[in-house]
Amino acid sequence: MPASLLDLQGVGPKIAEKLSRLSILSVEHLLFHLPIRYQDRTQLTPIGALKSDAHALVEGEILHCEIAFQGRRVLIARINDDTGNLNLRFFYFNNQQKEKLSKGSRVRCFGTVRATGSILEMIHPEYNIIEKDHFLPMPESLTPIYPTTTGLHQIRIRKLIRQAFLWAEDNWNDSSSEVIENILGKDYPSLLDALNIVHNPAADLDLSALMSNRHVAQQRLIFEELLAHQLSINLLRDKNRQHKSKSLKNDGKLFDKLISDLPFSLTSAQKRTIGEIMSDMKGDTPMNRLLQGDVGCGKTLVALAACLMVVENGFQVAFMAPTEILVEQHYRNFSQWLEDLNLKVGLLTGSLSTKSRRSVLSLISTGKIDIILGTHALIQDTVEFKNLCLIVIDEQHRFGVHQRMALHNKDSHKHPHQLIMTATPIPRSLAMTIYADMDHSIIDEMPPGRKPVTTIAVSESRRLEIIESVKKTCTEKKQVYWVCTLIEESEIFEREAAERVFEYLSEMLPMFKVGLLHGRMKSDRKEKIMRQFKNGEINILVATTVIEVGVDVENANLIVIENAERLGMSQLHQLRGRVGRGSSQSTCILVYKSPLSDIAKQRINALRETNNGFEIAQVDLTLRGPGEMFGTRQTGVVPLRIADIVRDQELLPKVQKTADKILGSNPKSANILLERWLGKSFNLGKV
Ligand code: ADP
Ligand code: MG
Repeated sequence: MPASLLDLQGVGPKIAEKLSRLSILSVEHLLFHLPIRYQDRTQLTPIGALKSDAHALVEGEILHCEIAFQGRRVLIARINDDTGNLNLRFFYFNNQQKEKLSKGSRVRCFGTVRATGSILEMIHPEYNIIEKDHFLPMPESLTPIYPTTTGLHQIRIRKLIRQAFLWAEDNWNDSSSEVIENILGKDYPSLLDALNIVHNPAADLDLSALMSNRHVAQQRLIFEELLAHQLSINLLRDKNRQHKSKSLKNDGKLFDKLISDLPFSLTSAQKRTIGEIMSDMKGDTPMNRLLQGDVGCGKTLVALAACLMVVENGFQVAFMAPTEILVEQHYRNFSQWLEDLNLKVGLLTGSLSTKSRRSVLSLISTGKIDIILGTHALIQDTVEFKNLCLIVIDEQHRFGVHQRMALHNKDSHKHPHQLIMTATPIPRSLAMTIYADMDHSIIDEMPPGRKPVTTIAVSESRRLEIIESVKKTCTEKKQVYWVCTLIEESEIFEREAAERVFEYLSEMLPMFKVGLLHGRMKSDRKEKIMRQFKNGEINILVATTVIEVGVDVENANLIVIENAERLGMSQLHQLRGRVGRGSSQSTCILVYKSPLSDIAKQRINALRETNNGFEIAQVDLTLRGPGEMFGTRQTGVVPLRIADIVRDQELLPKVQKTADKILGSNPKSANILLERWLGKSFNLGKV
C-alpha cells in the first residue's frame, strides 16, 4: 500500500490538496512526477561569455543597486565579475531585498540572459547572497524542473521527491519490475535506478541524451508508461467486448426512403462505411467504431444511416457535437431531412431555459424523442434515456477518452453502440495506440464535383486588397466567412476582435449585410444568424473559431482567416473546410502578421500545397508532437508524462506484445502499472 503523503515532512492538508492537482496522491506518485526539463547549474559562466537567451549561473560583486522609475518601480542591481557587467532587474521586491543587494555584496544567480541594446540583463533571477568568507557549494547534479501548480514551489517539490526516495529505499517492493526487466533485457537500469537518474542526474551525464529523452533511464520509464497506457486501452476494449448490446434486426428501410429523396447519390465510400456500421449493430456486442474522413466527405449522412437503423428498431440515439452551433446545424438538417419519416428529433444544449430543459428531459426519458442532439450537456447525470441504443460523437478530437466512457455507462443493462467521427486524420501508428480499443472505418473519397480550395497567404498590411476580394465575391452573389482567431484561447479576446472586424467591414462594405457570430451569444440569436447566413440574407459572416467544425453552407466560397500564423495546421484545415462545399471555385485567404517564423512558413506552405487532410496531418506531426496535434493537454486523450507517441513509436510493437503477455499471465502487475501511471484518471475500477 503506498504511503500517505501526510506522513511526509512539510505536508499538511493544504499542500496535499495542491499535490492532488498534479495527480500526486501517494508517496509513490511523487517518484513518478517527472521533470519536464533540466538546468545546468553545476558551472559558473563568466559574464563576458554570456549569450542572449541562454540560461546561466553567474557570480559577481554588486557595483551599485538602485530603484528606477520606468513606467513602474524597478530594482536594478549591476554586478561585475572581472569579465563583464550584468544587470539584475526586479519588478517585485521589498526593502529587505534591496538592502541585501547593496554595493560590495557577492551574489550568485541563475536566470535567462537578455540583451537590451548593448546591456545584458536577467529579469528576476534566482539568487543567493554569498556572505563574506563563506563557501557556497555548487550543485553536483543537473537541476530538474518539475511541472507545478500555483503556490507550490520547485524547491518544495524537490524536497518532497527526495523524501519519497528515502521512503522507497526501505518500503518499495515493485513486483511488476521483474516482468518488464525480463522483456527489456540487461541494458536498462532497474526502475528505482532509472527514477534516481531522472530525478538526480549526475553532472557528467550525457546532457543532450537526457534533454532529448534518449537516455536509457528515460527509455526504461517511457517503455513502462506506454505499457501502462496500452494496458488501459486493452482493458477498455476487453471490458467493452464482455458487454451485451441490443441487437438490431430491421435495417435500412427508413434510410433507403431518405436517400431516394436526396438530390445526389452516396459515394461508394459512404456506402461501404454504412455497411460496416450496420453489420456491427446487428451483432450482440456493442459497436465501438471510429469513422475517419476529411472535412466535407459526408460523414453526417453515414451517421444518420446508423441513427435511422436504431430508430427503426424502436430505440433511441444520443448525438453529440462539440459546439452549440454545430448541434443546431445538425438539428436543422435532421429536422428537414427527417420531416416525412415521422420521427422526433430533440435538442439539448447548455443554453436551454430550465423549463424547456425539463420538458426535453421528460420527452427523452419517456421515449418520445428518437434522436436527441446535444453538446456535452448530454453526458450530464440528469439525462435519462428510455432505451438508448446508439451514441454518436461528432468531431471526436474535442472529446477525451473519459467523456466517451461517461456516456457509456448510462444504460447499465445493455450497452449502447458507439460511433465516433473525426475529421482530424490520424496516422495509422497513432490510431493503433490512441484508439486501439475501436474498429476503424475510413471515408477516403469526396462527393463528386468538388473543386479543391485555392489557398493563399497574405500579409496583414494588405488588408485593403482582401476587402476587395470580399467585395468581388459578394458581388458575384457568393458568401464569405471572416474568422477572427487569437492565440490566447480566450473567448473574450476573440469576441472583441470579431466585434471590431464586424464594425470595420460594415463600414467599408455598406452595400452588403455583415453578420456577427461568437460563442457567447444566446443560442436563439446564434441560430438566427446561422439561418440567415444559410439562406443568403447575410453576405459576410464575421465569426470566432466557433465555426471551426462542421458548419456547412454551400454558397460560401471565400474564407478569410486572421492570425493564421498562430493556429495549428489541423485547425486551419478545419476552418478552410467551411468552403469548397459547393461546385464553384473557393478560396481561403490566410492572413498573417510578418515576420513569419520558419515553422509558420512551412505550415502555411503545406496548406497551400495540399487539400488532403492526411498529408497535412503528416506534416503537422513532423513539425510538432502529437500532444499538441490532438490538444491532449486539454482533452486528456493521451495523458502521457514522459513518453511521446510519435517520438517513441518504434517502441510500440514491443509495448503491444508485452501488454498482451502481462494481461495473460500477470494481471496483478497490470494493476500496479495502471495505478502508478494513470492513477485517478483511470477509473475503470479494479481489474
Ligand atoms: P463532414 O464529413 O465534414 O461532416 P458533411 O456530412 O457535413 O461533411 O457533408 C458535407 C456536405 O456534403 C453536406 O452539405 C452534405 O449534404 C453533402 N454531401 C454528403 N454526401 C454527399 C454525396 N454523396 N454527394 C454530394 N453531396 C454530399
Ligand atoms: Mg461534420
